[in-house]
Amino acid sequence: MPEFKALLDGYRRFRLGDYRDQRERYDRLAQGQDPKVMVIACSDSRVDPTRVFDAGPGEMFVLRNIANLVPPFSAISGQSSVAAAVEYAVSGLEVHHIVVFGHGRCGGIAAALAGDFDNPVAGKHVHAWMEFIAPARDSVKAACALSPDIDAQRTLEQASVRLSIDNLRTYPFVAAAEKAGKLKLHGTIFDIAEGALKILDPKTGQFQALPLDL
Ligand SMILES: [Zn+2]
Repeated sequence: MPEFKALLDGYRRFRLGDYRDQRERYDRLAQGQDPKVMVIACSDSRVDPTRVFDAGPGEMFVLRNIANLVPPFSAISGQSSVAAAVEYAVSGLEVHHIVVFGHGRCGGIAAALAGDFDNPVAGKHVHAWMEFIAPARDSVKAACALSPDIDAQRTLEQASVRLSIDNLRTYPFVAAAEKAGKLKLHGTIFDIAEGALKILDPKTGQFQALPLDL
């Protein structure tokens, strides 16, 4: 099992390369962080938001979980890493943007559609987590039953990003910061096969491909 050795080799390359080359930056970051962007991404190993957005250390406050989900706000504290991270980003770091970073071919979304984790023993945690998007999943399945041409996976990936943004607005500190004009929420989807980033247009509710020319 050579994988852990590969990590240590990677550390050595980082320590002798990027860390040395950007020493000033790391010295500055040692004093504290001041990112202006929070990204909520999937844990999927293929979609690293710092890589896709070409961001350096200190630029993004990143939360990753299965299928980049944001559960609705709950007044019960201490039970959600999402609530803790969003609260710290908005109330502590005072980020200007929260980006929900969905992605194509998401295994969590595929499992939610297929019911892969409905096994109460082997998949109970994933199953319970993905139940946050059960209403969206059920409406996509119903639409697909009527129109088989609908791409259920893609449709649910997009619906789950919209749902996460709607759920973010149930957090009182998010709603207050957005109302005060201090915070903007964004929906995006990246497809690893196409290399394309799509942005959610808040006016139409549709995702539009971002042109590469400036
Ligand atoms: Zn995913």
